[in-house]
Amino acid sequence: MSAAVPVQSVAVIGGGLSGSLFALKLAKARPDYRVTIIEATRRLGRGLAYGACSPRHLLNVPISRMEVGLTPGFEDWLEDNPTAQDDLAAALEESGGDLHSVFMPRALFGAYLEERLEAAIVIGPGPGLTVIRGEAVGLLARPARGVRLSDGREIAADTIVLATGNLAPGTPGGPDRWLYDSPAFVPDPWAPDAFDGVAPDDPLLLLGAGLTTVDIVLKLGAAGHHGPILATSRRGLLPQVHEAGGAWPAFLEAALPASPRALMRLVRAQVDAAEAKGIPWQRVFDAARPAIPAVWGSWSIREKRQFLRHLRTRWDVHRHRMAKRIADALQAEIARGRLEILAARLRGYRRSDDGIEVTLTSRTGGERRFTAARIVNCTGPRRDVGGLAIPLIADLRDQGLALPDALGLGLETENCALLDSGHRPSTWLFALGALTCPQWWEITAVPEIAVQVDRLVGQLANPEAAHLSAGDFLDLGAGI
Ligand SMILES: Cc1cc2nc3c(=O)[nH]c(=O)nc-3n(C[C@H](O)[C@H](O)[C@H](O)COP(=O)(O)OP(=O)(O)OC[C@H]3O[C@@H](n4cnc5c(N)ncnc54)[C@H](O)[C@@H]3O)c2cc1C
Repeated sequence: MSAAVPVQSVAVIGGGLSGSLFALKLAKARPDYRVTIIEATRRLGRGLAYGACSPRHLLNVPISRMEVGLTPGFEDWLEDNPTAQDDLAAALEESGGDLHSVFMPRALFGAYLEERLEAAIVIGPGPGLTVIRGEAVGLLARPARGVRLSDGREIAADTIVLATGNLAPGTPGGPDRWLYDSPAFVPDPWAPDAFDGVAPDDPLLLLGAGLTTVDIVLKLGAAGHHGPILATSRRGLLPQVHEAGGAWPAFLEAALPASPRALMRLVRAQVDAAEAKGIPWQRVFDAARPAIPAVWGSWSIREKRQFLRHLRTRWDVHRHRMAKRIADALQAEIARGRLEILAARLRGYRRSDDGIEVTLTSRTGGERRFTAARIVNCTGPRRDVGGLAIPLIADLRDQGLALPDALGLGLETENCALLDSGHRPSTWLFALGALTCPQWWEITAVPEIAVQVDRLVGQLANPEAAHLSAGDFLDLGAGI
């Protein structure tokens, strides 16, 4: 018997959380479609976040926020999974028995997603969810649409969804750029060979003090590194810590703050009011979160730029928090003198007999010298795709199929449809996750991505239905 002919073929480039979740949900909503995930690496559902991690790396949101609408749910899966029981018991003890608010190892979430995919994948032609291993390097737009792979294969598709996720970090600015070409510089701390040749007592300088730095300090510690680490950023602010309990009502939707300063004033007033009632300030940020795409979308480019220049760091350290267990582990490293966080500006690098001597001016004014065996780029994923030489992105730009945004945050989209170089939304080319940052701003973590995925699945599963308006599409309200 010959296989049924799919009514639509959809290619999803990238099999991390965004691409996998989208493909699973679309294949379920439309069993008559052929949905193909194209993934460059060996494992599905992992990406950087849930793949390149040790057991000490915990999710940075509680498990209740990692529910993405699959069956079984993550919580149920954890309870039934023998390999998760030790971690679950430890986390439950820490949370006082409240399952919803526990923080579990990130690798378990990756295993959960991978299992859902393995159960759903079909082999052979016809409708269903399939996977192709390969790197997408270009798109075919006409006469027929499809995806070109680095090995020369061409995958036909009516609709294409880019879910290529987090880019490797960009090269930092600063003085003495020769350093970035030297073997002492680690350009991507997630690369498999990033710390090859680093001795356990080597002193290290980490550029950045955000979640990547937190991850790398713990990863190195788990691998036996015990040398001194200096982590530096302009403000020297570590991510804040999660705290459970309390609730705070939505407060931004009624009147969107007209400027970044108005947003911060409003948030500060709400934090004061919450704390006066004994409610953790974290609930105020949680309450703000669903309205952020609408607030961001209401600002002019000047206001967005102001936010990025003056408020982004402070916003990020409060919004993207770490689990208490992680914060405790980090504080222990600081207390025993292995880790120091320094608010400073880099002044220069100099080769010395012992490695690279770095000169910094601390925010409080003093000069500081530190000799490091390696300088590690922990500045976080690069967002600016403007001049990027990644083949797929370069091909999209060259064909005029995509438009990098003016603020260097990703690609211009309208309800996930890519805008072409003439600012027209595509009818067949879409994006999910990090690439859509210019329209959503807050589209990093699972809760927001899950809502975005549901909206796009709804749209592509029912192409005849009226499209959601931009406001409805971006309204995260009930979703997180
Ligand atoms: C270290 C880290 C920890 C995080 N922890 C959390 C957390 O605890 N909770 C949370 O909510 N969020 C967390 N995040 C945020 C994270 O970005 C999202 O949760 C989510 O993983 C993003 O998934 P994605 O699929 O969009 O991107 P990615 O996970 O980056 O996946 C993209 C995939 O696309 C593939 N790909 C890229 N280009 C191509 C190509 N040309 N051809 C074929 N395949 C390609 C890549 O190989 C990759 O598998 C974390 C992020 C990082 C970096």
